[in-house]
Amino acid sequence: MPRPILATVHAAALSHNLARARAAAPDARVWAVVKANAYGHGIERVFDALRSADGFALLDLVEAQRLRALDWRGPILLLEGCFDARDLELCSRLGLWHTIHCDEQIDMLAAHKTQVAHRVFLKMNSGMNRLGFTPERYRAAWTRLNALPQVEEISLMTHFSDADGARGIAHQLQAFEAVTHDLPGERTLSNSAAVLRHGPAIAEKSDWVRPGIAVYGSSPDFPEHSAADWGLLPTLTLASKIIGVQHLVAGDTVGYGSSFTADGPLRIGVVACGYADGYPRHCTTGTPVLVQGVLTRMVGRVSMDMITVDLTPVPDAGTGSEVTLWGRASGGAVLPVDEVAQSAGTVAYELMCAGAPRVPFSTD
Ligand SMILES: *Cc1c(COP(=O)(O)O)cnc(C)c1O
Repeated sequence: MPRPILATVHAAALSHNLARARAAAPDARVWAVVKANAYGHGIERVFDALRSADGFALLDLVEAQRLRALDWRGPILLLEGCFDARDLELCSRLGLWHTIHCDEQIDMLAAHKTQVAHRVFLKMNSGMNRLGFTPERYRAAWTRLNALPQVEEISLMTHFSDADGARGIAHQLQAFEAVTHDLPGERTLSNSAAVLRHGPAIAEKSDWVRPGIAVYGSSPDFPEHSAADWGLLPTLTLASKIIGVQHLVAGDTVGYGSSFTADGPLRIGVVACGYADGYPRHCTTGTPVLVQGVLTRMVGRVSMDMITVDLTPVPDAGTGSEVTLWGRASGGAVLPVDEVAQSAGTVAYELMCAGAPRVPFSTD
């Protein structure tokens, strides 16, 4: 028998979450963001469930090729644009729309020989200070692009740094609008947090929205709101089984470094899942885990191939019992990936993207 660990992608939940994002920005077209191999889910595994999207946004050209290989004929947006001149040939050939965030990308495009003019998304750095032209330099970049025969259409783009938090989006929206209000072209503004939290503020200002994490069933502003608060369903379950049981007495310790000490008799289940499966090693005693759909806690340290869990709330559990590390148990109980991420001091994005090659996948 293979080792019992399994990752499952829930197709119906992906479709549900996409519809949920669409409902929050009902007048906008929706890019389903599928970068990082669809946030670790696998582009081929999510494609059918997400094909009602108006387009797919990603940044790896090989991933764009994989989408075209699935016979997706609709829009594909490269969120970081082209990395070198050869990428522009692929854009021409596959009809990829691409971001322009720096002068070097305009230079490359100006030197590019093509029969087909490109649709480009000119990115403004409205305060994130990652990619894009500053507001002061934005219009000069637009004018330069607009004069190129290689350019068919220019759309306008920015990205919010604080849509999930107290600072919000107003300051960036204002910077963007001050410079772009009289420029033609479609606009694309919003990540998941902006779509869910600031839907009314971006309505009529964003022709396209760009939800990612919400499509994958994680709350963009956890713990302020849970995924359930936003009506999102888990799209990825990491499940395994108990492969051994230990009976501890007071004073016994568990695992490397003896970081957990039993203060009384305790049954411990040993689970076939460790950091080499993508389970974060930063999780410590108390991290939530489901055994047979019942909430319990991890104890001790995460090892490469195993974790240990407290079986007190599930007295009938033993070797072979189902363990849900995050996602949905077979009986329907849900352990939000956001809660496990929080225990590890990180975000669900990282957990979902960190799935290890040795973990087999299935789809339901
Ligand atoms: C990743 C990304 C998104 C999606 O962000 P989420 O927080 O996952 O919704 C949107 N726009 C850009 C430019 C991105 O890089």
